[in-house]
Amino acid sequence: MNLTDPIFTDKDAAREYLERQRWADGVYCPHCGGVDKCKKLTGKFHRPGLYQCGDCRKQFTVTVGTVFERSKVPLNKWLLATFLMASSKKGMSAHQLHRTIGVTYKTAWFMWHRIREAMRSGSFSPMGGEGGTVESDETFIGTDPTYKGSRRVYHHKMKVLSLVDRETGEARSFVVDKLTQHDVVPILKENID
Ligand SMILES: [Zn+2]
Repeated sequence: MNLTDPIFTDKDAAREYLERQRWADGVYCPHCGGVDKCKKLTGKFHRPGLYQCGDCRKQFTVTVGTVFERSKVPLNKWLLATFLMASSKKGMSAHQLHRTIGVTYKTAWFMWHRIREAMRSGSFSPMGGEGGTVESDETFIGTDPTYKGSRRVYHHKMKVLSLVDRETGEARSFVVDKLTQHDVVPILKENID
């Protein structure tokens, strides 16, 4: 990937890239987790990339629930800023970002903070440090597309493990094959201080 890639210059290419990344296993609803009835809205009055969930009836785009949500800055500039910040060894200041991607300093400052926060809370930093408390729970959502057996109780649904840091409110969710000790414990060990 280099700086002339269309995802950094064209907002539709940027959105399609993000859709491929985020929904590699199929579109899911960021509001209720529904996977079966997500429909792309293609009418000319709809903005590109708008979906509707048949389960909860809410609309969404690929940026809902991400650091790019509800921003007037075109998505290609967000991707460019993220790429620059992630690939620059010495780090990049908000001022450099402002000059490089062509947004006002105030906007660059806002983006810089959001991206840095997203990078900081990546899976490398364990949750619940310094004696904090992390809650863990499981839930069953949608239908596991790989499941072949009978559709009874919850066996055919996707198993999701969620962790919530009680102090910071940070949450992480993982799709797991089975909710057994064998599958769950390594995730807890990897993510909790
Ligand atoms: Zn939904």
